[in-house]
Amino acid sequence: MTSGTERSTPRLRAALDGIPSYRPGRAATGRDGVPAYKLSSNENPYPPLPSVLETVRESAMSFNRYPDMFATSLTAAIAARFGVPPTHIAIGTGSVGVLQQVVQATAAEGDEVVYAWRSFEAYPIVVQVSGARSVTVPLRADEHHDLDAMAAAVTDRTRLVLVCSPNNPTGTAVRRAELERFLDRVPADVLVVIDEAYREFVRDPEVPDAIEIYRDRPNVAVLRTFSKAYGLAGLRVGFAIAHEPVADALRKTAVPFGVSGLAQVAATASLDAEDELLARVGALVVERSRVQNALREQGWAHAGDSEANFVWLRLGGRTEEFTGACESAGVVVRPFAGEGARITIGEPEANDVFLRVVKGFAPGAAPST
Ligand SMILES: *Cc1c(COP(=O)(O)O)cnc(C)c1O
Repeated sequence: MTSGTERSTPRLRAALDGIPSYRPGRAATGRDGVPAYKLSSNENPYPPLPSVLETVRESAMSFNRYPDMFATSLTAAIAARFGVPPTHIAIGTGSVGVLQQVVQATAAEGDEVVYAWRSFEAYPIVVQVSGARSVTVPLRADEHHDLDAMAAAVTDRTRLVLVCSPNNPTGTAVRRAELERFLDRVPADVLVVIDEAYREFVRDPEVPDAIEIYRDRPNVAVLRTFSKAYGLAGLRVGFAIAHEPVADALRKTAVPFGVSGLAQVAATASLDAEDELLARVGALVVERSRVQNALREQGWAHAGDSEANFVWLRLGGRTEEFTGACESAGVVVRPFAGEGARITIGEPEANDVFLRVVKGFAPGAAPST
C-alpha cells in the first residue's frame, strides 16, 4: 500500500488542463433520399488512383514486418522531386505528426510559439501539450496573416513561428514580398515553419513556393503533406524540408516506425503518378473558381481569396443556422461557432448543393424563415 494521501486518479500533467479538444470534421450521415456529402475535412473527393492502390495491395502482403524506419525509398523520391538533399527531409505520420516533432524539437515550458489566429486547429493543441505557451496574432480584417504584427510578437522567449499558407480555414496565402520582409525581421535563432498543406492548390503567382524560400534561410522549414492534393489522408504521411540540424532534430523526435509501409509505398507511388494526381488538383481548382465566382456574385467579401481546396465564409452569429441548413440539404461543412464556416471543394454535385443553401445567407439576402 502507498503511504500518504490516497489519490483517486493518476496524476496527469497540468499542461493538459483545458486543452481544446480536436474536433474532426463531422462524418456525412445520409438520410432517406438525401445524398450526404462530406465537405468538412478538406479531403480529396477522388478515390485512390489504381496504380497507387496496386502498390498498397502488394505491400499489404508483408505487414507482418516493421516498415523501413528511415523511409529510405520515399525520402529519396522526395529529395529527387524537390531537388533537396535527403538529409534535409524528415517524414512523419501526416504533417500534423511532423508538426508535433517540430514543437518537441524546439519548445517546452517557458518557451513561446507564435502563430496567427484563426488558423489550423492542431496548433494550440500541439503547443499546449508541449508545455510551451501559444502567442496568437489575430488575422487582418482581410483574413490574411498579419506578418508585421507577428514579427513584433517575437520575443527572446520565442522558439518557433508557424505560418500557415494557404491558411486553414480562411484559404488566404502569404505573398512573396511580405514573407521575405517578415523573415528578414525574425532572429536567425528562431525557427519559422511554413505549413504548406495546400500548396498544390495555389494559383496566385505572387505566392511563393516555400521550398524556394528555405534554401538560403537556415531557420526556415517547410511542412508538406500527402493528405490533401495526393489523396492519402487515411494513410498518414507528411514531411518537413529543413536544413540539416533542424531535419536531424525532427528525425530524433519521430515516433519510431510511425509511418507504415503502406503509407511509404503509397506516397512514393503518388510521386510517380504525380501528373495524374495534379490533373485532379487542376479539376478541383476549376471547381473552386466556379464556386468562388458564384459566391462573389452573391456578395461574399473574401470567399474569392482562397488558394486552397476550401472556401471560408464569415457568417458570424449565423454560422450554426447555416451549418444546420447545409446538413438538411445533404452537405456537412465545418463550423467555427460565432465566426464562420469552412466548406471543402468537393464533387460538383456537392458544391451545387452548398451553393443553393448559401444563397439564403448571402450578405443582403433576406433571412431564411
Ligand atoms: C490538413 C492540414 C494538415 C495536414 O494534416 P496531415 O496530418 O498531413 O493529414 C497540415 N496543416 C494544415 C494547415 C492542414 O489543414
